[in-house]
Amino acid sequence: MKIAILSRNANLYSTRRLIEAATERGHEVRVIDTLRAYMNIASHKPSIHYKGEELEGFDAVIPRIGASITFYGTAVLRQFEMMGVFPLNESVAISRSRDKLRSLQLLARKGVGLPVTGFAHSPDDIPDLISMVGGAPLVIKLLEGTQGIGVVLCETEKAAESVLEAFMGLKANIMVQEYIREAGGADIRCLVVGDKVIAAMKRQAKPGEFRSNLHRGGSASLIKITPEERMTAVRAAKVMGLSVAGVDILRSNHGPVVMEVNSSPGLEGIESTTGKDVAGLIIDYIEKNARPNQTRTKGKG
Ligand code: ADP
Ligand code: MG
Repeated sequence: MKIAILSRNANLYSTRRLIEAATERGHEVRVIDTLRAYMNIASHKPSIHYKGEELEGFDAVIPRIGASITFYGTAVLRQFEMMGVFPLNESVAISRSRDKLRSLQLLARKGVGLPVTGFAHSPDDIPDLISMVGGAPLVIKLLEGTQGIGVVLCETEKAAESVLEAFMGLKANIMVQEYIREAGGADIRCLVVGDKVIAAMKRQAKPGEFRSNLHRGGSASLIKITPEERMTAVRAAKVMGLSVAGVDILRSNHGPVVMEVNSSPGLEGIESTTGKDVAGLIIDYIEKNARPNQTRTKGKG
């Protein structure tokens, strides 16, 4: 097969591993710098151009689109879809997953376990918003945040009110969430490929920190997940419409709750922690599923 990887940098661990795994299996791989692809959308024959050349003949495309380039990246991916190229994850599913609030609403609709979460626009509604999610302690999150930045734990209602007022004053989009204290600063990253969790790791926040992000000094270790957690992760990915996803789960005393679903999960932490060939399993998935013109949406919607 001829496989395109949409990635800004061929030297990133995840990109390198995908190139390796695909090449090992005899596929032809080409890394396309997402921001250098440009498109002709005006004709009946949609095309993608790259550094002066027209891109043709791809069987599959692996999107590795960073959060900061979601808008342009999903447009390039959509163009591949319009050309009938099989996307590992579809552009609409990636767009959905990048909006935390929209994601939680979709998951809630299908009954996936979530932390109690509230959302409001007006500062007048702050007291009621806080009581709606069960009062302090609570977590306030910027909707567009990543890597733990913009996630704040407020131990008291007074602190929560001030932080909410400040964020609202800055016109930031935020949500308020019950604090899952019993998770003990740990979460579980489940790597879903197709309808299976193929690898899982526990991430533990460093002492004195509640955010388990590796970028915030968290440490990763192996974990055995329960059948309920496995099912929750697979359902979450499916609801989002993602074939490959990193589903982050907290162990709450009301069962597993999904915190977020990541559409371009990093491979380095999960491969080094679990010893699993995640990149290889992703390429295997593409081999089994890639057919021309089989995109669910073909870039629509
Ligand atoms: P980001 O997209 O920035 O990673 P997350 O929603 O994943 O934001 O939050 C970052 C970290 O903060 C999580 O990995 C988790 O450890 C912790 N956290 C987030 N929400 C909660 C919550 N409701 N209860 C307890 N811990 C939380
Ligand atoms: Mg996170």
